[in-house]
Formats: sequence, structure tokens, C-alpha cells
Amino acid sequence: MRKVRIRNLSVFKLDIALREPFTIAFKTYTHAHNCLVVLETSEGIRGYGEASPDKPITGDSQEEALSFMKLAAKKLAGQMLDVEEIHKTLSRLEEETGLRSQTGKAAIDMACYDAVGKTEGRPVYDILGAHEPSRIPTTLTIGIKTIEETLATVRNYMERFGKYGLRRIKLKLSGKAEEDLERVLKVAEIFPGELTLDANQGYRDPMQAIKVLNKMYDEVGDRLILVEQPTPKDDLDALKIVSRESPIPVFADESAATLKDITRIIDERASSGVNIKLQKIGGIYYGVKAAQKANDAGIKLMVGCNEETHIAISAAMHYASAIRGVVNVDLDSDLLLFEVNIVKEDPLETFILGARVPRVKPGLGVELTSWFEALADGKLLLQKVV
Ligand SMILES: [Mg+2]
Repeated sequence: MRKVRIRNLSVFKLDIALREPFTIAFKTYTHAHNCLVVLETSEGIRGYGEASPDKPITGDSQEEALSFMKLAAKKLAGQMLDVEEIHKTLSRLEEETGLRSQTGKAAIDMACYDAVGKTEGRPVYDILGAHEPSRIPTTLTIGIKTIEETLATVRNYMERFGKYGLRRIKLKLSGKAEEDLERVLKVAEIFPGELTLDANQGYRDPMQAIKVLNKMYDEVGDRLILVEQPTPKDDLDALKIVSRESPIPVFADESAATLKDITRIIDERASSGVNIKLQKIGGIYYGVKAAQKANDAGIKLMVGCNEETHIAISAAMHYASAIRGVVNVDLDSDLLLFEVNIVKEDPLETFILGARVPRVKPGLGVELTSWFEALADGKLLLQKVV
């Protein structure tokens, strides 16, 4: 690549209201509290990145991510656009200041890959070594709702997304066995496709999780393709027990946040698969390392998301379609959560035959809408987006 430097890095607070509240086992969300990064190179090329912090999942808050990125912006100005070197700088910054932000690193990482891709005229998946990106079906997620509301949402998804080849739905589980069983069976009756489940640590007792997963599997069978994080994140023994006894493959999510966590899960064979999120692991650079380790050990992968707009989801699409061993993606927040779209491109263009497919365009393949361009230029001073 040509010798290109980072001219500057701008960081914005990006709060976006959700269409409707979204509930999982431990929390209800009404807004995404994200951060936007705009990196400008010495050639005037812009790279975009997005942080989507969520303390229980990523370990950092929006405020912490913003503080980290403000310091990083000062350190990175003038540095060569070299992803590995940039990550070294960010690690040193964490050590020096004690400030840690996985999502801040992820946002800067995405902006770097975007800028490198635009500089070289190559899509990010191609930079990651995939000439032909693979197409992995995505789930569309349904939060915890009553049975009636859940079924109405399933019908709504089938109506709205049937023409895009919707094949998989993900159901959030509450940890209340009877309710979870009933919701899963009712949904399986009206939705003919595959289902994934996500308990978000809802089952404290591994035996109870095994019991309910067996009942679900007895009724629905192999259409239940995986269950994420049935047990508390710090209890790897419980995760191991459920993984061993569950007829549905168990994927670690909250237990598998960083590269270190994922390495431990792989070494201890604590689950059949792991859910890699760029926001948890600190960006594509670390995601590639984790995928290599998992592939070497025969551990399956899925790629998930937080409450991310089409910028961070585009980064995840490029990543997921370039690495090996991915059996499922859950990249749906840009399709489902927001009324506001901060980029010019329509996210639905990348939902093809049930899969998320990255654009064949340089970098991540997205550009900010004109009023966000003005924001990035400092012509607008807006912190809050509704
Ligand atoms: Mg999950």
C-alpha cells in the first residue's frame, strides 16, 4: 500500500432511539448509545467506524469509549495507516492510562480497515483474504415478549422479510423454563425455518437448562440450530455441563468476550461454538486471530452484534464472510432497530437470500448521509440523534 498517514480522527456521541423497546434476560433497551469515528487520511480519504458499548457485554460504557477514543485520536494523528501498529498504540494507551475500551478499539479498527480498503480500492473482505465472500444465513432477533406479541412479530418478519429469503429467527429466552418452552414451540409451529435461541445467562441451574433444551429439541428437532449462553458468564463449569448434555449445540457469548476469554473456552472445550462480536473482541484484527484459534480447535463460530447501525454491521458482514468456520450470523440490528439511517446505502440491499452479503465496493462500502457528513466536518454540532 502507498505510504498513507492518519491526518485526524473525529469522534462523535451517537444516541439513537429504538423503534420499540427491546428486552433480553437481564435488560430492556430504549436507545442505542453508540459512538461514531471518522478517520481522515493524508490523502483525504475517510474511514468510518462505530462503537456500540454495552457494559455487561463489552465491559465499557459509552462515556468510557468516548474518553478512550479522545485520547487515542491524539496519539494516532500523524501515525501510519497500518492496522497492526495502530493496535499496538491502542494497547499501550490502555496500559498507560488504565482506560480500557473494547468498543473504542473496535470502532477505530473498523475505520482503519475502511480507509485501507478505500485507499487500495478493495473491499474489506478481500483485504482479509476472501476473494469470494461466503454467504451465511442471518437470524432476525425477537426480544422477550408475551406469546401473542412474539407470534405477531414472527408473522410481521415473515411478511416484511420473506422476499429477502428470511430463513432463521432468533428467540431471546427469559430463563423461565415453562414460558421459554411454550414460546419456542408456538413459534416453531408457525415459522417453517430454522431457530436459534439466546438465554443471555438466564439459567443459573445448568440442570434446568438441560431439561428445557431437551424438551424443546424433542418437539422441534434439528431446526433448533444453536443456543447462546444458557448459563452465567463467569461459571464456565455450568457452561461445560450444558454443552455436554444439550442436544442443541451451545455457543458461548457473554463468556467469550475477549481474545483471552475465547482462548480459554477453546482450551477448556467449554462450548461447541463461540459468538464473536467485533464490539466485544476489539475489532476485526482480533476477530481474525480468534477465528484462527477456533478453526484450529474445531470450535464453530457465529458472528453477532450489539445495537449497531449499518456502519458497524457492514464491518461485521465483511469479517464474517471472509473467515472460515462461521455457521450462523446474527447481524440484524441495522435492519430492525432504527428509524433513522445514518448512511446513504439501504441496509436491505445487503440482505440477500437470507444472508448478509457485504457490498463489492472499496472499504466497508458505506458513506455517511449528507447531514452526517456535515456533522463530521464540524459544520453541525449535534450530539443527539433521535
Ligand atoms: Mg447472545
